[in-house]
Amino acid sequence: MTESIIHSQRPQTTDGHLREQRLIVTIDGPAGAGKSTVAKLLALRLGYLYLDTGALYRAVAWKVRTSGIDPSDHEAVAKLLPSTTVTMAYRPEQARVSVEKQDVTEEIRTPEISRLASVVSAIPAVREWLLPVQRRIGSAGGVVAEGRDLGTRVFPAADVKFFLEADMEVRAARRHRELTAAGHAAPLTETRQDIQTRDTQDRSRDIAPLVPASDANVVDTSDLTVDQVVDRMMAVIAAKL
Ligand code: C5P
Repeated sequence: MTESIIHSQRPQTTDGHLREQRLIVTIDGPAGAGKSTVAKLLALRLGYLYLDTGALYRAVAWKVRTSGIDPSDHEAVAKLLPSTTVTMAYRPEQARVSVEKQDVTEEIRTPEISRLASVVSAIPAVREWLLPVQRRIGSAGGVVAEGRDLGTRVFPAADVKFFLEADMEVRAARRHRELTAAGHAAPLTETRQDIQTRDTQDRSRDIAPLVPASDANVVDTSDLTVDQVVDRMMAVIAAKL
């Protein structure tokens, strides 16, 4: 049996005086709340690694789809994992994701893979498989990790936890803009429906549902600019540095 491996390479840190602190910062929240945008900016400012855990679930979804496996067949999905190799290679502006050495960075951003990622992420075997991987990448600290269960399950002892929220209309419009820019144009109503469905699935699943950690700083980004959100978050982080 081939061992499943997830490789990751830490980026070069660029910041001088903050790099010694090596905090674990987690950002959870629903799709379109602005997590990725601010997580990347915070990681750049701090000279930290940006860990996009959604990309790992998307990579598994990509593998399930290309293998032709029925995602409702949990046993078949579980059997696929040991022979799966996901690689994340970090660059300052973006992590490149490969499955079996094939670069899937752009392919995993389609609406179809978003839907499938939400489905496979509710399978316990998938979450168990990805848990040590995420901890291995982030446990040394110096990381801004974003997803759904980072503050509750992956890094329950994180130094700083955030939970980003935003109104459904704002989230749908943001996601629609991103998808259109990436060449996946679809009606706004479809994007809204997709994120509503994903939200319901992510919040109601039995294992590691999307909920704020009890000690998370909740930020509603609906009426804030990206800079305002980053400034608020940096103020919280700075208190720990
Ligand atoms: O964050 P992103 O939209 O890329 O995540 C895709 C899907 O992966 C989410 O809808 C969610 O179902 C799943 N996910 C998760 N836990 C995480 C990150 C993502 O269940 N930590």
